[in-house]
Amino acid sequence: MGKSIAIDGPAGAGKSTIAKMVAKELGFIYVDTGAMYRAMALYLIRRGISRDDTAGIEKACEDADISIAYEDGQQVVLLMGENVNGLIRTEEVGNMASASSVNGKVREKLVSLQQKLAAEKDVVMDGRDIGTVVLPDSKCKIYLTASSKVRAKRRYDELKEKRIDCDIDQIEADIIERDERDMTRENSPLRQAEDAVLVDSSDMTIDEVKLAILDEAKRKL
Ligand code: C5P
Repeated sequence: MGKSIAIDGPAGAGKSTIAKMVAKELGFIYVDTGAMYRAMALYLIRRGISRDDTAGIEKACEDADISIAYEDGQQVVLLMGENVNGLIRTEEVGNMASASSVNGKVREKLVSLQQKLAAEKDVVMDGRDIGTVVLPDSKCKIYLTASSKVRAKRRYDELKEKRIDCDIDQIEADIIERDERDMTRENSPLRQAEDAVLVDSSDMTIDEVKLAILDEAKRKL
């Protein structure tokens, strides 16, 4: 097992931005587990499988070939060998990922891929169940959150920057719905691990959050 920093929290809390910076600073590899659930979701969308079709999802899960590669230090998600990084950041894919990630078979497949990566390398891994399920023995666990208003505004700014048309109230409603599903699902719900440190970034700058986590890493690893 390599060293690891496990970062969990709700959608839009800034996990990936922070995790990337921390990984760079420490020379660890950044593993974005949400991207894997998103790649799985894209596969389901392409196959025309509905979010309620459990049998269809489980069959697709067996057929979907999802793997991870690194190009210039950046994580690339490959779906059937195709780089899908540019296709998985939409709200449609995010909502499908949230709906399909309740499925135990989907989780089993992706958790095992994640554990394999962490066994080989020092990682900063972010997601919903990293501290609780994927890397329960990680010595440095962070639960990163922020108010739903702040998180919706951040996602809105992100989409605007990419010139994607969006509505901030709709984004906040989606975020609240997604959190509710992620926190109440039976399989690996989103929750703060007992030994995780809580960081609420609502009133913090990116640099402040980065420093708080680096500080924690220094102490724990
Ligand atoms: O973090 P991101 O928004 O990319 O994740 C998309 C969805 O994938 C989440 O809403 C969540 O339902 C699911 N997910 C998960 N477990 C993880 C990472 C993501 O269930 N470790």
